[in-house]
Amino acid sequence: MNVTQSYQLQQYGGQPVAVTHELPRLSENALLVEVTHAGVCHSDVYIQDGYQDLGNGEKINFADSTMPMPLVMGHEIVGRVVAVGSAKNQALVGQQRLIYPWIGCGDCPVCQGGHDNHCEQPQSLGIFRQGGYAEHVVVPDARYLLDIGELDPAWACTLACSGLTVFSALQQLLPVKPESYLAIIGMGGLGLSAISLAKKLGFQRIIACDIADDRLAAAQKLGADLLLNTARSSAPESELKALAQHRLHSVIDTVGNPATVQMAIGTVAKGSRIVLVGLQGGQTALRIPLLPFKALSLTGSYTGSLDELTQLIALVRQGGIATLPISQRPLCCLADALSDLRNGNAVGRIVLNP
Ligand SMILES: [Zn+2]
Ligand SMILES: [Zn+2]
Repeated sequence: MNVTQSYQLQQYGGQPVAVTHELPRLSENALLVEVTHAGVCHSDVYIQDGYQDLGNGEKINFADSTMPMPLVMGHEIVGRVVAVGSAKNQALVGQQRLIYPWIGCGDCPVCQGGHDNHCEQPQSLGIFRQGGYAEHVVVPDARYLLDIGELDPAWACTLACSGLTVFSALQQLLPVKPESYLAIIGMGGLGLSAISLAKKLGFQRIIACDIADDRLAAAQKLGADLLLNTARSSAPESELKALAQHRLHSVIDTVGNPATVQMAIGTVAKGSRIVLVGLQGGQTALRIPLLPFKALSLTGSYTGSLDELTQLIALVRQGGIATLPISQRPLCCLADALSDLRNGNAVGRIVLNP
């Protein structure tokens, strides 16, 4: 039996549908992984929509990109190697591995420098190549397979996107300034992953911001020191400033909309850095003198490098990092999982099992 099943998005705006098809033929360096765990990320909701909102009616239309259609989404993948294209990888057969999905062209200077995630010809699994909402996924090279040892695979799969994205963002905020505060905006999968990692990396004063009390409660369990419900606050900027005792030097914005960006710029102290990782979208006016006056760095960060994911796994395997809430569902629940994420009905990560 050389057939397999995958959930294909066949048109933007539609739902993924189960399709049975032949297993692909493997090229020499490629490996076939039987998927056991696939985390559902908010990016998949944007891919399903078919565009990224740039505000004021402007959009990035994915139909104009090199994304294939039909597309099997899913980029947080753990599975077991079941076939290899070359005998050199034979020892990997039967091994459980986490997949680094942010694959680049492999040839350009950026890829050669180890930053596949910044490649201009991205080959990311689940976005530009067929991904993990399937029984099987093809990985083009063994170097993208990482050993997770004794880690719970349901949690480990989330390290490939939500964990890696915030780990890479947190690296940009090191070293921690004395008596300084870190605010993390948005307590979805990224924000919750950031809380316990930030603690492990030495941030002692962490403020979790969200619009929902159940997500803030989850943040508190993971180690957030202070909580701010920005929807219930009449003056969230002044409240955040006061909570941070005017020493807010670091912000990770996992939402990325005009209100969250303005709140971050409006509340940070001098000599601070705001890292945007959220993709909710929109446009906002920038009060230009605030950047020099506050010696403020406003930066964006996209996922992370293969080297960073390797470092993250090593850090997590040391222990002492709290696990974000995970609900596991069968892969056939993909459409419901996407709509729960879209509607803000999921606390933590949904992980699907084929
Ligand atoms: Zn993701
Ligand atoms: Zn490249």
